[in-house]
Amino acid sequence: MISRIDLRGAAFPDGGIDRDLLPRAEFDVEAALDAVRPICEDVRHRGSAAVIDYGERFDGVRLERLRVPAQALADALAQLDPQVRAALEESIRRARAVHRDQRRTDTTTQVVPGGTVTERWVPVRRVGLYVPGGLAAYASSVVMNVVPAQEAGVEGIAVSSPPQRETGLPAAPVLAACALLGVDEVHAAGGAQAVAMFAYGTDECRPVDLVTGPGNIYVAAAKRLLKGRVGIDAEAGPTEIAVLADDSAEPGFVAADLISQAEHDTLAAAVLVTTSAELADAVDKELDVQVAAARHRERITAALSGRQSATVLVDTLEQGLQVVDAYAAEHLEIQTRDAAAVAARVRNAGAVFVGPHAPVSLGDYCAGSNHVLPTGGCACHSSGLSVQSFLRGIHVVDYSRDALADVAHHVVALATAEDLPAHGTAVTVRFGAGS
Ligand code: NAD
Repeated sequence: MISRIDLRGAAFPDGGIDRDLLPRAEFDVEAALDAVRPICEDVRHRGSAAVIDYGERFDGVRLERLRVPAQALADALAQLDPQVRAALEESIRRARAVHRDQRRTDTTTQVVPGGTVTERWVPVRRVGLYVPGGLAAYASSVVMNVVPAQEAGVEGIAVSSPPQRETGLPAAPVLAACALLGVDEVHAAGGAQAVAMFAYGTDECRPVDLVTGPGNIYVAAAKRLLKGRVGIDAEAGPTEIAVLADDSAEPGFVAADLISQAEHDTLAAAVLVTTSAELADAVDKELDVQVAAARHRERITAALSGRQSATVLVDTLEQGLQVVDAYAAEHLEIQTRDAAAVAARVRNAGAVFVGPHAPVSLGDYCAGSNHVLPTGGCACHSSGLSVQSFLRGIHVVDYSRDALADVAHHVVALATAEDLPAHGTAVTVRFGAGS
């Protein structure tokens, strides 16, 4: 079901291996840009009316208004299965504990006597949090978006998620999670039209400063298109799992974890990197058995047999680390001997899961870590969602007259070298005759 790439005996150059040798989902955001450009333009000009039209076209339901009434939020929470409520509350508690500890404190550096620079961390004023709702209803994504925004101190939080055909509202667990977190501004809009609604604003939704959250290719394309007009987080597209394993790994665990992420989407990627051909064979057997018994076996089979998924055989763990670094997976599991030491050497991954008892699905829901993570190789330059995503560091420069006088000749020298003499004058004018 899952193809093999045999890199045993291959050359591993010092600069890292060629990414083109590795599997990767065909997630052509550039092509989707053409599809979302007219949608975003239309929302810009016609506001809610356009969002409602696209909801009818893509989500199969025509709404009167997009803003979810407060009563619908309260009803969803009241009707939430008590076990799901308890699980969401535990997920929120753990995420809050982790994200609260991430808050930064302002740092003041005394550069010289009388001269300080303070880095002041200021939350974004208003954010739009996208919660996917096409193939699955991600109540957990509400938690992962809202908790860091709240812990960062964001004042205005708006959530948007696609309307369900039957109710005309976002999925009930999404609404319940919003209610549990005290979010009262929720919109029933999905895809590019939701991102455009956040960016441009409509009569029902004031524009936001930042849009975050995972989503499908149209969500990712709209975020890329509107970047600049609004801030965005890293692209979080179809999910990816890479497992770096040696012969000590438990094949049943590895197979279950690969399947757990393949369950998201036919485009989801599952990659096993291993030094053990015996383990690879055993995982193949486990996949056959476990996929046959899985509820979403068709979707899982499509994901595992797609070009984006593979088992990669390597000679050494050293090479395995090079492969996983080049791949830069959204989720990386280390199932090897001395897993913590191996994990400490990973450079590129959205999140790392250490040892046999930290499956990715723990991180999806209840580890306390964030599950909105960079995909498509973006983990080599970007981080997942965190409190930091909602803060801006502002440098506050405070110099006395003496401190400026001390450094004035250096400013003038650099300004002259750059042929920007007015820059120098703006300093020397303060020390001219009579001043
Ligand atoms: P979604 O909410 O992202 O997308 C649904 C919307 O797509 C619809 O409302 C519709 O407006 C739009 N759409 C559908 N077809 C369209 C078309 N032809 N043209 C324009 N717009 C169209 O839900 P989804 O589709 O289920 O995707 C969710 C994705 O999010 C999955 O790929 C999942 O793996 C990913 N995900 C990622 C993370 C992460 O952290 N990386 C977390 C959760 C989910």
